[in-house]
Amino acid sequence: MLSRRKLIKRLSALPFVGGIIGGGVPLAAIAAAPAAPYRDYFAELGVRTFINAAGTYTAMTGSLLRDEMKDAYNYASEHYVMLDELQDKVGERIAKLLKCEAATVTSGAFSAMTFGMAGVLTGMDPKKAEQIPHLDGTGMKTEAIIQKSHNIGYAHAVRNCGVKVIEVETKEQLKKAINKNTALMLFINAYEPNGQINAEEWLKTGKENNIPCMNDCAADVPPVENLWKFTQMGYDLVCFSGGKGLRGPQSAGLLLGKKELIAAARLSAPPRGNTVGRGMKVNKEEVLGMWAALEAFVNGDHEKEWKLWEGQINLIADSVKGIDGLTIKIHVPPIANHIPTLDLSWDTKKVKISGNGLKDVLRSGHPSIEVAGGGENSVSITTWMMRPGQERIVADRIRDGLEKAAAG
Ligand SMILES: *Cc1c(COP(=O)(O)O)cnc(C)c1O
Repeated sequence: MLSRRKLIKRLSALPFVGGIIGGGVPLAAIAAAPAAPYRDYFAELGVRTFINAAGTYTAMTGSLLRDEMKDAYNYASEHYVMLDELQDKVGERIAKLLKCEAATVTSGAFSAMTFGMAGVLTGMDPKKAEQIPHLDGTGMKTEAIIQKSHNIGYAHAVRNCGVKVIEVETKEQLKKAINKNTALMLFINAYEPNGQINAEEWLKTGKENNIPCMNDCAADVPPVENLWKFTQMGYDLVCFSGGKGLRGPQSAGLLLGKKELIAAARLSAPPRGNTVGRGMKVNKEEVLGMWAALEAFVNGDHEKEWKLWEGQINLIADSVKGIDGLTIKIHVPPIANHIPTLDLSWDTKKVKISGNGLKDVLRSGHPSIEVAGGGENSVSITTWMMRPGQERIVADRIRDGLEKAAAG
């Protein structure tokens, strides 16, 4: 959307600016338009907006877009390009930025996994892309291996291609599970601590047996280095979400990896129609916006951002200090959502509210606030998805909610 200032600038650059332009809007009316460029759509619809003190949750619409992303989106919305050419060129830039062989923009980490799986199955044969997900009698392989502790739902993305998911727990089971039908070994990075086989060992076994390895790193920035760590380690394919820590479009993501596999994956991607990926289209605005957001993220001041988050978390923690029966813990999760996190838990005999009860209090107040966790007697807070300054509101409201429960 054009800002009013930009619009006026553009109009005044036209050769004949009279009282009436294009569709008959009097110029005076535009000049007099309110400064805010947006209708209050959510208020009109009665859709609740809130301060996000929880994190990058899909159900909470992920993240707020970076300005660079919005500019790229608006720019792209005014031009036609060929979708494949745009993906080619953006893919080259992303690959360079992220130090990998090749890249493509997908409609999320989940679809990156589907496209990656499809590419592994089809190679450069478009006929095979048309046959997915019915693999029988096609000559395509039919199995993907995953650790049982990693099989938490996202493997459905590879099942979309018709493969059967085989679960293993030990290294011995993994070696035994590999056979002539094994197409892929899938690793879910965030679940590394839950499994017996780590990312390096998983890859090593894949290499020894000539099986492509994919790592789903959807939520695993920061740290920024994770964007190249696993392709450089040797993973054939790596997937990221666009709308989590990268703060690009929520309905975009990245598939990174080996040149021939990315090219093969794109046989199943729009504009090609008779494919498993046709419904996973990414429009030109989001393809461009994904790159713009990524560039802004990679080139950003990560140390400064980290200090900001630490300061915000400390401020909220300090505000609830001294409440009898409350335990305050600040920690950084090791892999996914690797950011300063505040866990509050309490003795419900002293602070007489449940975690879910406190969430309801925060949700129903003004402004509405979402925190993570909940349950019996705890909540969890992060600040990275807030607008700076909102931490003060969150600090006051949480202290207020807990103090009332302690007094009541
Ligand atoms: C969020 C997430 C996904 C899905 O990512 P989208 O970008 O929403 O498609 C996949 N795997 C893991 C581990 C995730 O956290």
